[in-house]
Amino acid sequence: MYKCKHFKIYELVDPVTYKRFGDEAWMFLNPLILMAADGIREYFGVPVTINNWHWGGEFQWSGLRTVFCTIGGKWSQHRFANAIDCDIKDIPAEEARQRILANQNHPLLQHITCIEASTNWLHIDSRNIKDRIRIVYP
Ligand SMILES: [Zn+2]
Repeated sequence: MYKCKHFKIYELVDPVTYKRFGDEAWMFLNPLILMAADGIREYFGVPVTINNWHWGGEFQWSGLRTVFCTIGGKWSQHRFANAIDCDIKDIPAEEARQRILANQNHPLLQHITCIEASTNWLHIDSRNIKDRIRIVYP
């Protein structure tokens, strides 16, 4: 199994899931997106925010989206535990995307297979496809 080095489980799941499963909730997440999240944190070298509900913030569905989640697409990669939305401290999403795409063969970025264009947050996912890195328009 893989647990993130740089994120706690409550940064990947919502409060209901965390309350019910605690640290066992790692079992729901695709290890590739967890490695991708750590990779992003190490590649950029600054704090990265995914879910922040644990500290009173507004985000609880930026990692896993369970059946109780009513936002986003029905077939979103978040629903398959393959995706995260994040904010990289002091780096605008568009700049982060350009840097990832320009360095997509970097070992720390190897598990990202898809990225969403033109959002003011950074969506990355580890969907099981051959492309690297696919760009999708939400
Ligand atoms: Zn997303």
